[in-house]
Amino acid sequence: MRSYVRTMMLILVLVVVGFLAGGPTEARAQSPRPVLVLDPGHGWNNGAGLIDPGEVSGDLVEKEITLDVARQTRDLLSRCDVDVHLTHDRDDYNHTENDIADIVNGLDPTLAVSIHTNSSDTTASGTEAWYTVGGYDDTSSQALAAILAAGVADQFAIPNRGAKPETQNPLGGLYIHEWEAPSVLLELAFLQADAELLRTERRNFARAIARVLLSSVNVPLDCADHATAEGFAIAVYFPEEERINAVTLLNDGLLPWEPGEYSLVNTHNPLGAPESLPLPQVVQAGEMVTWDAIPAKAPETAGIHRQKWQLYKGDTPLGDEATVIVIVVPQQAVDLKEEIEHKIDELRQQGQQHLEEQLELLRQQIMDAVEQKLTEWLTDAFHKICGGNSAVVGLAAGLVFLKLRKKRRSND
Ligand SMILES: [Zn+2]
Repeated sequence: MRSYVRTMMLILVLVVVGFLAGGPTEARAQSPRPVLVLDPGHGWNNGAGLIDPGEVSGDLVEKEITLDVARQTRDLLSRCDVDVHLTHDRDDYNHTENDIADIVNGLDPTLAVSIHTNSSDTTASGTEAWYTVGGYDDTSSQALAAILAAGVADQFAIPNRGAKPETQNPLGGLYIHEWEAPSVLLELAFLQADAELLRTERRNFARAIARVLLSSVNVPLDCADHATAEGFAIAVYFPEEERINAVTLLNDGLLPWEPGEYSLVNTHNPLGAPESLPLPQVVQAGEMVTWDAIPAKAPETAGIHRQKWQLYKGDTPLGDEATVIVIVVPQQAVDLKEEIEHKIDELRQQGQQHLEEQLELLRQQIMDAVEQKLTEWLTDAFHKICGGNSAVVGLAAGLVFLKLRKKRRSND
């Protein structure tokens, strides 16, 4: 009997242990997305009710650079299968530096990176990264610090000042010490010697950080692949006139584009252009590529036509469509053509802002001109045919006019 009880107890214990073990195992089997936390250095309450700007050098303010780079890193990472959080997304009066550990730990990160800029009254240049000593996971922290410093320094060919233990920091220790994840404090570059990079290359700082973080959580970098259309081509044509246009795309991802893998595909209104055009050269991340010999033959119909292009990798479209806008004015409407050419110069300077509204106004102007010309021509013709019977002429011209009104909605 006693052995029976003991056996039952043992079974009960095994069941309970099995149940407890089952919980976390099942949770792990669902493989949750890695959680990446970015802490834009400074921009928090300095403890006296003011925002701490960090270091300032000329027009460069540390908290503005770190927030911009953190946001852009999030922008790149959010295209991928990871969760990204910033400890703050604007000046944060509600927290001081001492509160950041609570924010980070509350997010239960897989990895956490604090982003700062360095400052020196010497000519010091380059990137360094600090790791924890006696923190949550010093080994992973040190490894992450080493590849972050190398990744950022390599991006710009500036000195890699390497991974450094927080105990060597003049402050004696760093606020990443309390973070419950492999954590690094990254000093992007120096506000003085590297000022130009920090002013103009923030997207590429973000690329370098995003590459290292994705690699560290085993997410392939092609998840962030993206083409951004740079401006648009626009010109005024007579019917059936042919022109050569250019389309420019920015490689806004993390990997180079290789010829053979990528092509520019016509997705709308070929207007005599080929179905697809090969990538002309290798395009590094952050670089632009231009296809400068894209033909477009204007249709016969006056109005606004759009030839559209999209970058494809194999069968997968990537990012923005690029548009070639073909404005067709009636044959021989030389004055109208000149007037519209003047207006599209202004449009080019404005960029994409209000482009569609402006194009709609131009389209109406062209259609008005077409209607006016047609009505004049028809009135003349009917006068000849009907011998001046003004009622019949008016009725016929009116019918044609109404038909045109219906058609003027069409626009591609
Ligand atoms: Zn700082």
